[in-house]
Amino acid sequence: MTANILDGKAVAAKQRQKSAVRAAEFKAKFGRAPGLAVVKVGEDPASAVYVRNKRKACEECGIESFAHDLPATTSREALLSLIKMLNADDRVDGILLQLPLPKGLDSTEIMDTIDPAKDVDGFHPTNTGLLAQKRPGLRPCTPWGVIKLAEEYQLDLVGLRACVVGASNIVGRPMALELLLARSTVTVCHTGTKDLKAEVQRADLVVAAVGKAAYIPGDWIRDGAIVMDVGINRGADGKLCGDVEFAGASQRAAWITPVPGGVGPMTIAMLLSNTVDAALVREQRARAK
Ligand code: NAD
Repeated sequence: MTANILDGKAVAAKQRQKSAVRAAEFKAKFGRAPGLAVVKVGEDPASAVYVRNKRKACEECGIESFAHDLPATTSREALLSLIKMLNADDRVDGILLQLPLPKGLDSTEIMDTIDPAKDVDGFHPTNTGLLAQKRPGLRPCTPWGVIKLAEEYQLDLVGLRACVVGASNIVGRPMALELLLARSTVTVCHTGTKDLKAEVQRADLVVAAVGKAAYIPGDWIRDGAIVMDVGINRGADGKLCGDVEFAGASQRAAWITPVPGGVGPMTIAMLLSNTVDAALVREQRARAK
């Protein structure tokens, strides 16, 4: 079997177009564009690229982006006070705090300070809790992007034996909650898992979010499985690659995401979608007062 490619780039472009239409409608109705504040602290080169891409994506979509580039020496108090200021700013519908933060700043404390109604990354405990309770609000962009990608290709996730490899707060855990919501039968693997190979081998759907280049050998993948590879790593050859060994896996899977061009572009697309959603909800709430 040679797998069909889940083309995240194409699906993300479609999603972005939808958000652009919704952003234009929002502007026509409320007299302002949806607004996203992008906060970057320090000079991490990868973060600088991510932030630049997010700001460019906002511009293309008709979302106003507010740049806050702070030096690595920024104090906890200064960062908390910026977040509080953005929480109170009516032009700002979404607040994105680019991670990682420089050493000495506690990202959990800072992220918990973001107003859940502006938490377009979907990392706030309130939004995670809502997802856990089957009533999602703003949903974590990467896991939600995986679900949207499956939806776009009309892959029925109901009843699938899903194996999520990785249990971080930003990918693995919310991914498991999304798949539960989609009515898959979910197993979550992590560093405490005793037999990762056996778990992957029996999965109809593998979502890999480990952060280790080609860590999951292709021959672990069950024939006809769906492989969603969230990992973004540099391989030994210096090229970007995922957590799953692509060449081998694509001989066995029915569907697979490439890296790059799979889940990655979906993450930014869902961030834009969340920002428009947040803007609409905020305006509706303001009018209901
Ligand atoms: P993380 O380091 O926070 O979490 C990794 C998880 O993998 C942990 O839960 C850990 O328990 C688990 N793990 C590590 N080694 C393992 C092993 N041997 N067996 C089983 N589980 C193991 O990473 P993260 O932030 O969740 O990101 C994971 C990957 O996804 C990274 O490559 C990251 O760059 C990528 N990522 C991509 C996107 C995107 O848009 N595509 C978004 C976020 C993260």
